[in-house]
Amino acid sequence: MRDLISITVPCFNEEEALPIFFEELEKERQKLPCDSEVILVDDGSKDRTPIVMQELAAKYLGVRFLILSRNFGKEGAMAAGLSEAKGDYAVVMDADLQHPPCYIGVMYDAIKNPENGKSIDSAAMYRTGRKGEKRIRSFFAKRMMKRFGKISGIDIPPGATDYRMVSRKMLDAYLKLGESNRFSKGLFDWIGFDTKWIPYENVERVAGKTKWSFMGLAGYGLEAMLSFSDKPLKYAAVLGGISCTLAVIFAIYVIIKTLIWGDPVAGFPSLFCMILFLGGSILLFLGLIGRYVSKIYMETKRRPLFVVKESGGGKKED
Ligand code: UDP
Ligand code: MG
Repeated sequence: MRDLISITVPCFNEEEALPIFFEELEKERQKLPCDSEVILVDDGSKDRTPIVMQELAAKYLGVRFLILSRNFGKEGAMAAGLSEAKGDYAVVMDADLQHPPCYIGVMYDAIKNPENGKSIDSAAMYRTGRKGEKRIRSFFAKRMMKRFGKISGIDIPPGATDYRMVSRKMLDAYLKLGESNRFSKGLFDWIGFDTKWIPYENVERVAGKTKWSFMGLAGYGLEAMLSFSDKPLKYAAVLGGISCTLAVIFAIYVIIKTLIWGDPVAGFPSLFCMILFLGGSILLFLGLIGRYVSKIYMETKRRPLFVVKESGGGKKED
């Protein structure tokens, strides 16, 4: 029997890009040596995206759509689409042609015909350049990914994207992860199995605007790091330890100095600096601990990752 590939596309305000993307995707679907279905997920768009989706689902075979009740973020939309996937393999890709559809066949081939005959369960794409991206954004994005990898112990190449194909086994494992703080590149790495990373040249968005502001992206990176690692807490403890040791050494020095030379009233500026430093560090680390506590709080609510308002499509051959 032929394999079925489920292609999930999270969309948020993509009315301009979606039709252009879909044309390309259809071309690739015709070329694939297996069957495919498409699951378009509308992540609470404010424009005509849901209507465009319904039109596409009515026109083309094997196209379903899910309309979420509000914007849940790309991670929520991805989880929604993937939970509907019926295929032997599942693909996640963006709707703006920054993930060129021609690589679906390449990833499928990489999984089906692995090098050295060692079976793999996933193929994923990473960008070799960041053409068309604002310099400052790529500078920080690159550094953030590196730091994230180091702190969390998650192994992903620089330029890693969300564009990937996973086997049914891996998809089922992913769907079992119910946490609400999600960073799917990290989650897929945590699940394990073997992934082949395939390079490709970065492509600019075909139409519409990116949904990420600089601050939004930085916040996402920070949250991802906190949800994958408790190392920042360890760093805080180590810094606290170092401060205490220094304080003890300084106290001994002050005592000895007073005993030998008496006690002239001095050292006010140094005292001021130390109070400021310690007060600042305490507030900073309290804030950090607060972020972890709030994450625990959000996780304990066990809320669903998304809510579906409407679904449909899935036209079959007459
Ligand atoms: N997206 C989404 N929900 C959001 C933000 C983005 O479903 O809240 C989708 C968006 O429609 C696109 C993909 O996620 O298909 C990637 O978004 P974008 O192109 O804005 O990100 P960038 O490529 O700039 O990192
Ligand atoms: Mg994009």
